[in-house]
Amino acid sequence: GDKDVPIDDLLTSPASWLDDGAYRHPDIQLPRRLYAPRKNSRGIEFGSRVELKHTLDGMAAASLSGSLEAFGAEDVEACMAKAQAAFPAWRGRDVKERASILERAADLLESDTTRIMGVLAKEAGKTVDDGIAEVREAVDFLRYYAAEARRIMVPRMLPGPVGEDNAYSLTGRGVVVTIAPWNFPLAIFLGQVSAALAAGNAVVAKPAPQTPIIAAEALALLHKAGVPKDALILAPGGAETGQALVGDPRVAAIAFTGSTATAKAINLQLAQKPGAIIPFIAETGGTNAMIADATALPEQVTDDVILSAFRSAGQRCSACRILYVQEDVAERMLTMIQGSAATLEMGDPMLPQTDIGPVIDADALSRLRDYVVEKKDQIVWQGKAPEGGLFMAPTIIRLRDDEVLDREIFGPVLHVKTYKAGKLDAVIDEINSTGFGLTFALHSRIQAVIDHVTARVGAGNVYVNRNQIGAIVESQPFGGQGLSGTGPKAGGPLYLTRFVQERVVSTDT
Ligand code: GLU
Repeated sequence: GDKDVPIDDLLTSPASWLDDGAYRHPDIQLPRRLYAPRKNSRGIEFGSRVELKHTLDGMAAASLSGSLEAFGAEDVEACMAKAQAAFPAWRGRDVKERASILERAADLLESDTTRIMGVLAKEAGKTVDDGIAEVREAVDFLRYYAAEARRIMVPRMLPGPVGEDNAYSLTGRGVVVTIAPWNFPLAIFLGQVSAALAAGNAVVAKPAPQTPIIAAEALALLHKAGVPKDALILAPGGAETGQALVGDPRVAAIAFTGSTATAKAINLQLAQKPGAIIPFIAETGGTNAMIADATALPEQVTDDVILSAFRSAGQRCSACRILYVQEDVAERMLTMIQGSAATLEMGDPMLPQTDIGPVIDADALSRLRDYVVEKKDQIVWQGKAPEGGLFMAPTIIRLRDDEVLDREIFGPVLHVKTYKAGKLDAVIDEINSTGFGLTFALHSRIQAVIDHVTARVGAGNVYVNRNQIGAIVESQPFGGQGLSGTGPKAGGPLYLTRFVQERVVSTDT
C-alpha cells in the first residue's frame, strides 16, 4: 500500500520506496531546486542578496587589460630553457613548502573571487553561476593537490632482505607542459598547473588562445603566493605554439585537455620526436548519454537534462549530448523538458538572471549553426536566441533509430532517442559502441536496473538519479576512457602520480 515517505528518502533510497518491487507512479511535485549546488567542504558559499550585490559590483570591476602575443618558436625555446634552469631548485624545496605556496594561492584566489568571476564573464562568457562554480573548483584543485603532494611525496623505506636498505622516493620529473581548454580557463588550467607544481615540476603553461587573460591572472596569483617566476611560465598561443612546446626536447610530461583529435596529434608528435618517452595525460570529449526509464521521476529528469545539456551553453565535455528515454514515458518527459527549456534566459553573462551566456567565439557558433541546419528535419524544439551576440539557441534533435551519435557537438544541442521496454541492453551497446566514455547518467528507481546498467556502461563518471556535470574535486575525480581520455582522473588520488619520478636506492648495509 502507499506509504508516507519524505521526498528526500524517495530520492536517496529508491530500494526502500520500491519495497514490494512494484512501480507506482509518484505524481508528486518536486521543488524546483531539489538539488541545490552541493558544497565541498573546501568550497566557498554565496547566496544572500547582499552577497549577490557585492558579487555583481566585484564582477563589474574586472577589466581585461593587456594583450598577450602568441609565442613563436624562439619564445618557446627561451621559456623552456628558463624553466629547465629553475626546475632543480623547485624540485629541491620541501614538499610542505610547495604545498603551502599553493594553499596561499588558493586563499588569494578566494579573496579575489568576484573580480575573477568578472574576468571569466568578460573573457569566456561565464554566467554568475558558472563563474562561482569555476572559482570554487579552481580553489579546490589548489588545496587538493597541495594536500595530495604532502600525502604521497614522503620518502620511505621499503621492506627488503636483511642486510639491505631500500629507500623509495618521489620527485618532480622536469618541465611539464600544460595545455588547457577555453571552457574551464581557470579551473582546468589551474588544476593542471597546480598538480605539476605540487609534485615538484617546473611548468610551462599554454592557455587556450581564446582565454589568455584569465590564465595570466592565475599565474599572477601563483607568483604572488611564492612560485618562482621561472618555475612557472605562461606560453600563450594556438596550435603552432602547442606544437613547438610538445616538440621541445626538454618536456618531461604533458597534461592536455581538449579535443580527441588534438590529443591524437600530440601522441603522434611525441612518438616521432627524438628523446625520452614521456607521460601524456589527455582529457578529451564525449558523446555523453543519459538514460531515463519509465520509473524515473519526470520532474527530476527534466531538471537534470536542462542543467546537463543546456546550462553553460552545453560547453562542458561532461555535458549530456543524448537522452535515451523509454518510449512509454517519452512524450510526457519531452513535453516537460521543452517547457522547462523555454523558460531559460539567454543573454549577458554579467546579469544574475542569465541562465545561458554566449558560446565562446564566432567559429564555434557557426559550427553549431551548420550542424543544426544539417539536421533541420529532425529538430523537435528550438529556443530563441537574442539578436546579435554569439548566442546559440538551445536545440533538441530527434535521432532516427539507426542513427548513432558518434561525434561530440560542443554546445546546447540535445539529441533524443526512445527505446522500447526490454531493449535496455541494446541502448547500452549503442552507447558503448561510440568508443567515447566520459560521463553517463541513469534515471531509474529500480535497484536491479541501476546495478545492471552501471556495471555495463563504459564511462569514467557515472551518475545515478542526478545530473551529469560539475564533478567535485576529491569527491568525484573526473575523466573518461577510450576516446575520452587516458586518465588518471583530475581531482583524484592517482593524478599526481603521473607527474612524479619514482626512485629506489638499494644499499648493502
Ligand atoms: N569537470 C567538468 C564537469 O564535471 C567538465 C570538464 C570539462 O568540460 O572539460 O562538468
